[in-house]
Amino acid sequence: MGWSLTLGSIGGIKVRIHFTFLALLAWVGLSEWHQGGAAAAERAVAYILLLFACVVAHEFGHITMAARFGGVTQDVVLLPIGGVARMTRIPEKPVQELLVALAGPAVNVVIFGVLLAAIGPQVLLAQFSGDSGLPLVSEIAVANLVLAVFNLLPAFPMDGGRALRALLALRLGREVATDIAARIGHVLAIGLGAYGLFGGNPLLVLVATFIYFGASSEASGTRLHSFASHLRARDAMLTRLGVLGPEAVLSDAVDLLTHSTQHDIPVLDAVGKPVGLLTRDALARALHSHGGDYSVIEAMLPGLPTLGGEAPLERALAQLETGAAAVAVVDRSGALIGLVTAESLGHLLLLSRQNAR
Ligand code: ZN
Repeated sequence: MGWSLTLGSIGGIKVRIHFTFLALLAWVGLSEWHQGGAAAAERAVAYILLLFACVVAHEFGHITMAARFGGVTQDVVLLPIGGVARMTRIPEKPVQELLVALAGPAVNVVIFGVLLAAIGPQVLLAQFSGDSGLPLVSEIAVANLVLAVFNLLPAFPMDGGRALRALLALRLGREVATDIAARIGHVLAIGLGAYGLFGGNPLLVLVATFIYFGASSEASGTRLHSFASHLRARDAMLTRLGVLGPEAVLSDAVDLLTHSTQHDIPVLDAVGKPVGLLTRDALARALHSHGGDYSVIEAMLPGLPTLGGEAPLERALAQLETGAAAVAVVDRSGALIGLVTAESLGHLLLLSRQNAR
């Protein structure tokens, strides 16, 4: 994720902070300062920092549980909407997924319990009845309870949605379970959005929108994965491709793209092995600064990931999901025979769904 700052790492997993989160901190600090002076600003910033420490603990609840089942986490990124743990391998067995989903909210319940024991129930009751001037720690206790409850809403992309899918998957299989869980997520999001809209709560409308699209993307992601699991790389590759040789220049690339709907051009060496990809973006940038006589070898993104034609399509999908623009499919000698892109996969999925009707 671009524009983020690494704070440090816990157990080899980097904790990063997105710049929008820093902007949120600055905004809250400044507006509190404006209203209540330096003390109010300090308290508000301390509250957000403590809250996000709890969010990091929540994410590490998921991460530690996932690691027990062989899950591998890249990093944790803090966004204004919460934390995101980016996992490259996610446990998909229903029972494992259930435990991983519940481990996050469980951490917040534990934090709530510990703080409750420390401050006593009276302070907490006063917090709920809206008294002011209470210690920061009681606000943090309530916030952890809210975090746990909110995350357990049975809708993607919340943890509760994953837990629900895992429970349904025990009986119905992952695909059907995902569809049902996504539908419940849509209904919940629409209800929440309407409530926010008529109750005059714009934040709730924003959260509802987030849940609605989260549910859709989870459903289509799962569909794509189960679809890909039956196929090989060559089943999904584009074969009518314009390619460029090592001596080609940018104006050759412009010629090629003008007469096709292709987005990216594989660049091959003298024996036909892929050495890189000239994307439309890279082409536009290089044209702007170097002109049409510039070498495509200089302008391309070097090092295209490659797979054999018989490799499972899942492996191409994994490459695309971790940021590759395309995956080259090669024959035994390493020469290019096709290209798998997010677009080619999307088209294939669309066609298969139409044929299935
Ligand atoms: Zn979570």
